[in-house]
Amino acid sequence: MTRTTMDDITAEYAAQDLAVSEPLRAVAKVTVAAKTDLGRIRENNEDKFEFYISEEESVLATKGQIFLVCDGMGGHAAGQIASELSCKCFIDTYLNHPTLDADSALRESVVAANRLVNLVGVSNPQRRGMGTTLSGLVLRQGEAKVVQVGDSRVYRFRNEVLEQITTDHTYVEELVRLGVLPREQAERHPQKNVLVRAIGAEENVQPDIFTLDLQTGDRFLLCSDGLINHVPDVAIAEALRDMDPAKAAWTLISQALLGGGTDNVTVLIVRVDEVQTFEPSPL
Ligand code: CA
Repeated sequence: MTRTTMDDITAEYAAQDLAVSEPLRAVAKVTVAAKTDLGRIRENNEDKFEFYISEEESVLATKGQIFLVCDGMGGHAAGQIASELSCKCFIDTYLNHPTLDADSALRESVVAANRLVNLVGVSNPQRRGMGTTLSGLVLRQGEAKVVQVGDSRVYRFRNEVLEQITTDHTYVEELVRLGVLPREQAERHPQKNVLVRAIGAEENVQPDIFTLDLQTGDRFLLCSDGLINHVPDVAIAEALRDMDPAKAAWTLISQALLGGGTDNVTVLIVRVDEVQTFEPSPL
């Protein structure tokens, strides 16, 4: 029997020091807060967040700053393993990926995480069906990239407007998109948790990738569905507008618990305090 480990998966990309580099043109000064909570009913927390904020100019220029939320699923400890492995494998692969094309690096990091979780899942009958969502944000060279698989979400609050950047990869969302189900009914649909895409569920997965400009004052929220199920958009917008990230994170989690806390709940808030730009240095 052969065992595949994360080292095998990431080794394909962890080949050498980055062969290529580019000058730092812009960097976002950010304030970050994150919190995860078991909720009031679950006995273990299958959510996971990670971030990687380098101070190295070369890493900031080529990779940027990385933020991630994963929400695992599967019986026994499987969901927890799935979200944990996915976070680690995604960030490891992305940091070591030799290309400067951020979209390719993000896509291949999702593919690597998917392959690892899928292999760990199929190798143990108790973990069959394990998987995880993955919602990521990368701030790089004055742009924001959002990468998405599943039904965790990324929001942006800018100029008093809360905008959901990601689309849920759920059966119900597909019905809404096809015009078969009115949006008002989607929230209460019995199958609203059924995912049509997840990390680890199948041998292959395609993430959505969004590219956004970045402005001073932007606030980003990454969250698991444990927040969305209990806290309305208007409360999310208020917290992001009126509170510093730490207070907003604690307040939103409290609101999810007060609303029922039926699931694990995770929030990660990134406030862009300044987008610093640099002149290209003369040759
Ligand atoms: Ca969940």
